[in-house]
Amino acid sequence: MIYQLPELPYPVNALEPWYDAETVRIHHDLHHKGYVDGLNNAIKKIAEARDNGDFGLLKHWERELAFHGSGYILHNLFWTNMIPNGGGEAFGPIAQHIKLDFGSFDNFKSQFSAAAIAVEGSGWAVLVWNPFLRKLEIVQVEKHQNLSVWGSFPLLILDVWEHAYYLKYQNKRAEWVKGWWNLVNWKDVNNHYSFALRP
Ligand code: MN
Repeated sequence: MIYQLPELPYPVNALEPWYDAETVRIHHDLHHKGYVDGLNNAIKKIAEARDNGDFGLLKHWERELAFHGSGYILHNLFWTNMIPNGGGEAFGPIAQHIKLDFGSFDNFKSQFSAAAIAVEGSGWAVLVWNPFLRKLEIVQVEKHQNLSVWGSFPLLILDVWEHAYYLKYQNKRAEWVKGWWNLVNWKDVNNHYSFALRP
């Protein structure tokens, strides 16, 4: 299977003023595309290694698979998690579950923002459903090929790699986090939540 760069679900300038068109274009067309190409290449190289019975470089290609595969999956979610004129308070079933596991929407929002701001270096803040713990959790991802919480299902994700915000927000990551809250697509989060809870 060859993976493709998914189309953005809105025009590149649709998330203005919170997310500028130039950053969205570079982030999607170049960075996300790089992950797609890297994933396809890693899969191809691993298949070649199997065919040749030569696993000398397997460790390298497994790392490439983890890095680019994670980048591909997480960026897919990142784009659909946003919508023009989004944001506001969560609604629907996810809202009830957020209240149950975090006490209130405001508590959740504060914790998610703090997690995003405090990610060291490049990474993500992610709301996940963990089917083993039967619980929503907020996790920080520093290197997305490492530090996975096994079994967690990502529902809402915020990219805090510098490429995600630096053109507009420079070193003011907290401002990016604050702006991003105006874009959250809660309908999409509910869709992922339903999918995660399916029997
Ligand atoms: Mn990114």
